[in-house]
Order: sequence, then C-alpha cells, then structure tokens
Amino acid sequence: MKTGVLTALLLLIGTASANDLEPGVNNYELSATLRYVAVDPALSRDQVLAISPELLQPLAPNANYGFSTQAHWFVGEIHNRAHPETDWILLLEYPLLDHLELYLEDDAGAVQQLTGGDREPFDRRFFAHRHFSFPVMVPAGETVRLALRVSSESSIQVPLRLVTPLALAEINYLGQLGMGLLYGVLLALAAYNLLLFLTLRDTTFLYYVLYVASFGLLQLSLNGISYQFFWPGDPQVANLAILLMLPLAQMAMLQFCRSFLTLRTSAPRLDQVCLLLMVVLALISFAAFVVSYRYLVQIATGMVFVSAVAVLASGVRAWSQGYRPARYFLLAWGLLIAGMLAYAGVSFGFMPRTFVTTYGMQIGSAAEMVLLSFALAYRFRVLQEENRRMEADARTEMEQRVGERTAELNDALTRLETANRVLEQSSQRDGLTGVYNRRHLDLSLTRLWAEAIDHGRPLTLIVVDLDQFKQVNDQRGHMAGDDCLRQVAQAMEEQLADYPGILARFGGEEFFVLLPDIAANEIWPLAEQLRERIEKLKVVSEDQAFGITASIGVASLRAGEGRTYRDLVRIADKAMYEAKRQGRNRVVAAGDVPGAPTADAISDALP
Ligand code: GH3
Ligand code: MG
Ligand code: MG
Repeated sequence: MKTGVLTALLLLIGTASANDLEPGVNNYELSATLRYVAVDPALSRDQVLAISPELLQPLAPNANYGFSTQAHWFVGEIHNRAHPETDWILLLEYPLLDHLELYLEDDAGAVQQLTGGDREPFDRRFFAHRHFSFPVMVPAGETVRLALRVSSESSIQVPLRLVTPLALAEINYLGQLGMGLLYGVLLALAAYNLLLFLTLRDTTFLYYVLYVASFGLLQLSLNGISYQFFWPGDPQVANLAILLMLPLAQMAMLQFCRSFLTLRTSAPRLDQVCLLLMVVLALISFAAFVVSYRYLVQIATGMVFVSAVAVLASGVRAWSQGYRPARYFLLAWGLLIAGMLAYAGVSFGFMPRTFVTTYGMQIGSAAEMVLLSFALAYRFRVLQEENRRMEADARTEMEQRVGERTAELNDALTRLETANRVLEQSSQRDGLTGVYNRRHLDLSLTRLWAEAIDHGRPLTLIVVDLDQFKQVNDQRGHMAGDDCLRQVAQAMEEQLADYPGILARFGGEEFFVLLPDIAANEIWPLAEQLRERIEKLKVVSEDQAFGITASIGVASLRAGEGRTYRDLVRIADKAMYEAKRQGRNRVVAAGDVPGAPTADAISDALP
C-alpha cells in the first residue's frame, strides 16, 4: 500500500478541509468535505493518486453525475475533535452502484481497504442495510483520510454521510416508516383490486393489479430492498430484476391505460402507439438477458419519458372526448409523472438530488395508485350508469316496437276480417243477380226457423217464380234472360229495402223472400207490391225492352208444434203453383196471412 502517496495527495488538497466531528452532532453530510475526480476506470490507484490536485473538483450538487463510464474518486479527511463516539458509519444512500472501493488511512499511516456495491453478494455487507455502509473508526483527537472509488453502469449518485450507529438507527426508523407506508399502500391496493377483479370480472382491475405489483417490485429493487430480502446472494439477479421490472412496469402501465380508456375503440391511433411501445418494452426485457446493463438501463429509463407522454396524451384525448373517468385518470398520472420525471431527471443528472426529487416517484406513485383505484371505482359506476341507460333505452325502443307491431298486427287483423267478411259474403251471394244464393238461403232458413221457435213467432216466406221465363230465353236469347233476372232481383231488393229480411235466388228464375219480423197484416200487401213492381218493370237488354210477370206464393207459419221449415217451403211452393194454375201474375197465400183470399185451401195441407 502506497500510503505515502495517499497522504501526499490529501495534503496537497488544501481545500479539502477536515470535517470536524463535534460532540452532540451525530450525522454529517460529507459533500462539502470531499473533492472528486472522474478518470478512466483503467487507471490504477497509484495513477489516480498521482493526479494533479487542481483537477480535483468540489462535489456536484447532491453528488449526482448521471450515467458515466468513468471511475469517480471521492477524497477527503475527517477529524474527530472531541466526539466520544469512535465507531462511525459511512453511509452511501444510493443502492444501485456497482463497485465501491473505500480506502481509510489513520494517523499512524495504516491503510484499510473495504469493498462494496451491488455486484457483491448482499450477505457480504458490513450492515444488512439496503444502503451501502462501511465502518469508519475515528477515535477522539485523531484524523482519518478517506478515498472512495465508485464505478457503475447505473447512474452515478453518491450521497455520502458519516453517522453514529445511533443516528443510523434514527434514519432507518424514519426511512422504514416511509417505506412501510408506501409498500403498505401498494400491497393493500393490489390485494383489494385483485378481489374486485375476481368479483367484477372487469380485466381493467387485473391490469391495475399487475401495474401496482410490477411498479411495487420495481420500487423494491430501486430502493435496494428486494436485493436484501429476495436474492441477497445473487447480485446478477438483483441487477437483472431492475432491468426486467423497469420495462415490465411500463408495459403494465400502458396496458392499464389502454384498457381503462378503452383506447381500441375511442382512439385507435393512440392505441397502436401504446401497443408499439409495449412491443419495444418487451424486446428490452428480453434483451436484459444478453445486452449489457449500462446501455439497456439507459434505454429503459429513457422509455419512461416516451411511455409517460403516450399515457398522458391518451388521457388528454379521452378527456377531450368527454369520457368522464379520464379526469381522475389524468389527475393520478399527473402526480406519478411528476414523480417519475423527477426520478429520471435525477438519474440523468438534469435535476438536483433532493428529498422530493429522490422520493417524488414513491410519493407520486402512492398518491397515483390511490387515485387510480378511485378512478377505477368511478369508471365502474359510469359504465354501470351507461349500461343502465342503454338498457332503459333498449327497453323503451323494444316497447315502442312491440307497440308498433301490435298496431300493425291489429290493422292486418282488421283488414283480414274485412276481407273474410267480403269473401264470406261473396261466397253467399249469387253470381248473376248479387242477391243471396241458395247456400245462404239454406243456412238462413235453418237459423231463422230456430229463432222463430225460440221466440214463439211465425216465419214468413214469399216464393217468386217468373212467368214463362223459358220463352224470354227462347225468343230474346239467354243474355236477355240474364239481364231480366238481374233487373227483377234489383227491383225486388229495392222494394224490400225497408223490411228486415233475406232475398235469395233459390235457383233458375225462382226467388225466396224470408221475413222473420213482419207484422201479419203487412204480408199480403208486401207480396202484392212485389208482384206489381215486377209487372211494371221495363226490362232493358241491349236494344230491346220488354216486360215480365211473376207468380207469387206466400206462407206464414208459426214455428213449433212438430213443424219444420220444410213445411213452410212446401206450402209456400204450393201457393206459388196455385198462383200459376190460376193464371199467373198473381199472389196466392197459405197459412196465417190476413187479407189473403185463398188461404184456407192450402193451409189444409199442413201437418
Ligand atoms: P212457368 O211460367 O210455368 O214457370 O214457365 P217457365 O218457362 O218460367 O218455367 P220453366 O221451369 O219451364 O223454365 C225455366 C227456365 O228458366 C228454363 C231455363 O232455361 C231458364 N233459366 C234457368 N236459369 C237461368 C239462368 O240463369 N239464365 C237464363 N237466361 N235462363 C235461365
Ligand atoms: Mg217460371
Ligand atoms: Mg221455374
């Protein structure tokens, strides 16, 4: 050990005044005490110690040098004026540094070399502590000269303090409380939202849990805690963990963002950007197994800026589209992003290392996670409301459509009924004359006879047979015969208009008139009116005009007493033939027809 050279070097640093340890002060920040120089890492200790003292510089603000390939040397001396404590601890509060070499030289010129860094197994540490710590013996009245070499692929931050074990206990006490709070919050949120996911089956909750978990693991690694508790014997895993968790946490963050804001449908472009970033991050995490830590950690840290911008842009976009949950989302990210920017800024050496910038990410993240959990609940409520509204809309629309369909159906039914009625009527009408046909006559006879029985009333039948009709056909042609039938039927219909009854064509040139409600004394006059009307009718067919007469038989019979409607038809028929026999163009009555001249003779034929 070239102690002489080290002593000489320290003597030359006139400005590196010894820090006096005073009684009652147990915690010293060393940045004002030390000088530093950054040199080629290949330089041996001797070469470094031979460097001209003018090249030694005061420490950068907060001892932050960003990413650097050079070896950083920190030198200075500590004098214990009268502090009763002999066993001091040198504390380096940045747990990611790779290689540390500490040289301590006492007044007697004896040099002690200690090593550390996160490339060394955790168990070799002097203290089982997430930060690096070295024992430094400074008896009262003595001076210790120290030189610390730092080289690392991580960003080089060297916040050094010299503390008594008691002061370290105090620092730890507060630090652990803060850590406990942060991880307690993250753990509770992860567990709670995992339960929510299992209950609600909304994958956004799962992405949130993944995000909180990966973010928490990343924090544990960055704080040096996972190294202590998860893989203390394996520095390679500890460094790999950081390289893996950095991109994985960002991937979870992007995926959560995509899911929470439903980017795929609301902003497809931004969704693709997020997906692309996730692919890049996945490649980075694969590369962690092969590419050197130095470059990859810079890329992965740099990606934080890109991911943050993508998430922020997505949030702003969703918010501008009026998506209400985006408000809380943005607020949450604002807090975290501020913290992340502070952390990355410190890593790259853009920003000073202060409590807020160093722990900004932790503070911001805890606040963010709480707000995001709230945003998730809010989003759930918004979606539920939307669902309910859509359901209600759908129901109203459905009801409306059912109403429309019912109306249409009713309309169709009405039209069908009308059509049916028309069809039924037409099936019961005579094709030539338009009066009822034989089929309807038969049905009506049966029905009206049954009604007459029920009411104890008589039913009246008038049989009308055109006279010498065959001759009309023979002399004027069948078309004239048809015209004659039509016009006679129409004339009779007009004559009967005021009477509730049925006019039907029985067949050929024979018509039946059924009268259920006619007063007895109206029967005979009506039959006479019919005969007269036919007699006076001038049948017109093409260019000819001619007359026609009819023989009419009338019968009115009280229903019941073992009679059937056949008896009614029979005696009405008989009366009609009697009219023919008597010389045609006349009315003959049978049964109970007041005023009829020849009623008796035919009524005798009744059962
Ligand atoms: P009467 O005075 O004895 O009743 O003599 P008539 O000629 O009227 O009686 P008949 O039963 O001998 O003749 C009925 C004629 O009616 C026979 C048939 O050619 C004619 N006829 C039946 N149906 C139709 C029809 O639909 N159209 C036409 N043009 N003639 C018909
Ligand atoms: Mg006839
Ligand atoms: Mg006839």
